[in-house]
Order: sequence, then structure tokens, then C-alpha cells
Amino acid sequence: MTFWVLENKKHYYAKIHRGECGCCKDGEGPRPDHTGCWHGPFREYKEALATAKSIKRNVSSCKLCKPQSYA
Ligand SMILES: [Zn+2]
Repeated sequence: MTFWVLENKKHYYAKIHRGECGCCKDGEGPRPDHTGCWHGPFREYKEALATAKSIKRNVSSCKLCKPQSYA
């Protein structure tokens, strides 16, 4: 399993997804308004979380793929 961080450059947040998520598709997923970029893959949720926090102050987890459940 892999974890990814979607950095949104327009809105100031980062969201964590799993690679299997339809939003992420292992980093090939859509980047909203071309304002985002993917960081990853990470092997562990905590690695993705640490990276997300280093990028943005507002960090959330995807409600569809629930990466925090696999921490
Ligand atoms: Zn997701």
C-alpha cells in the first residue's frame, strides 16, 4: 500500500490519499485546476503526514479512501 499527498497550491491545504484511491491513482489522478501536485509515494501514513505538515498548515485526510485507518 502507498500513501500520497496532494498539495493544493491555490488553496492552502494538503490532503492525504492512498494510492488505490480514485482521486489519486498512484499520483496520476486529477490535480484540481492544475493548482496541485502530488508528493509520494510514501510507505507509511505517518511519513505522508509529516510531509503534508511540512508543506501546508492545513492537513486533511481523504474521506473516501480513509488513509488514517491504515496508519
Ligand atoms: Zn482518497
